Amino acid sequence: MDQRVVPQATGEHTDVRRRIPRTDAVLRDPRLVQAARRLGTGAVKAAVREAQDRARDGVIAPEAVADTAVAALPATAGGLRPVLNATGVLLHTNLGRAPLSAAARHAVREAAGPTDVELDLRTGVRARRGRTALAALAGRVPSAAAVHVVNNGAAALVLAATALAAGKEIVIGRGEMVEIGDGFRLPDLLVSTGARLREVGTTNRTTAADYAAAVGPDTAFVLKVHPSNFRVTGFTRTAGTGELAALGVPVVVDIGSGLLAPHPRLPAEPDATSQLRAGASLVTASGDKLLGGPQCGLLLGEERLVRALARHPLARALRVDKLTLAALEATLTGPETPTAAALAADPAVLAHRAVRLAAALRADGIDVRAVAGSATVGGGGAPGVTLPSAALSLPERYAAALRTGPVPVVGRLEAGRCLLDLRAVPPEDDDRLARAVRSAAKR
Ligand SMILES: *Cc1c(COP(=O)(O)O)cnc(C)c1O
Repeated sequence: MDQRVVPQATGEHTDVRRRIPRTDAVLRDPRLVQAARRLGTGAVKAAVREAQDRARDGVIAPEAVADTAVAALPATAGGLRPVLNATGVLLHTNLGRAPLSAAARHAVREAAGPTDVELDLRTGVRARRGRTALAALAGRVPSAAAVHVVNNGAAALVLAATALAAGKEIVIGRGEMVEIGDGFRLPDLLVSTGARLREVGTTNRTTAADYAAAVGPDTAFVLKVHPSNFRVTGFTRTAGTGELAALGVPVVVDIGSGLLAPHPRLPAEPDATSQLRAGASLVTASGDKLLGGPQCGLLLGEERLVRALARHPLARALRVDKLTLAALEATLTGPETPTAAALAADPAVLAHRAVRLAAALRADGIDVRAVAGSATVGGGGAPGVTLPSAALSLPERYAAALRTGPVPVVGRLEAGRCLLDLRAVPPEDDDRLARAVRSAAKR
């Protein structure tokens, strides 16, 4: 009920207010009846009330209330909206890191109902949770004797530290005591498990001898952490996994980005296979970075260690849900991921797309030009690597209009222009991007 007092309403104003349809009448509109089934009545009623308010304020005609409410309905009952990532950062943490492949999205939908995640349908007997996804992961990394999956990379580290090092020492190089992002500091996380950190070396130089001098009866494992979001250059030195493997204690390597094998475009980025071959006992990684899958944490390595982690009581608190398992398996076995495609995109093709889009938009009177640009991997992967790219350059005011449009587009600001970088935009989204720019030009 509208409690506002309208002082000295004019005759015309009162008349408009009387013509505003009642909520229950609007809700009988078949489009809104159907929407209520999809979105719940709360969202539909909120859209109707908003439209009635706009009619009361004279922004729309009273007859337009139903149409306005229908147009304002959210696409889904979930609060998260799909956006186009035109930032030029392939794995943007604020945009949910890796976009799932069509195969992974389909697998998630199929697994949404009751599913055989922990049941063998042939025998009718309980089976290992997520066994097919784990088999797919093991299949992609034959160097790993065993694998396990938890909720994210941080959970993988917590589980390793808790199960293997509580009350003992983790030996770690001073140059690898990193903050991953948003205040998440890896040393704090490790210490929170009850493990003690034994720091060795200096910020810029740490040798195998430094580690050797620190390893003793209290050592649970040596931890190597990939500095995934910065680079130290100049007078630097780190000890290789192979050298550390000779120390006689387990070597755990947090590679971060989840590359399973070397990537030709990212020669400096560590991968699980190479680390295991070099002698790592356990590798931890994220699923939603360069692997291009759902948020999860991968643990790959020696049977004895992985089994100890999987059987630890904490593993139950960190276990992944069926939707993650479905998406992970489809990522591992399915076609090229959007992340891999974006990494591999040919700069000439990107430039061609930018020129074509700019020409079409300029024909509509929009101040836009195609420019060369450079994209980055982001999301804790391949620091310092730039990927040649192409972008649409628009006046700065477009940034806000694009973000708040019907199909939100997130670009980046550079030298007073709004750049829409195409490297992380799949080519099939070019038309949506053009529509979003046209819509932003009108607002
Ligand atoms: C990203 C990252 C993490 C954290 O992984 P999440 O999946 O975000 O929890 C840990 N270590 C390294 C080296 C990383 O790059």
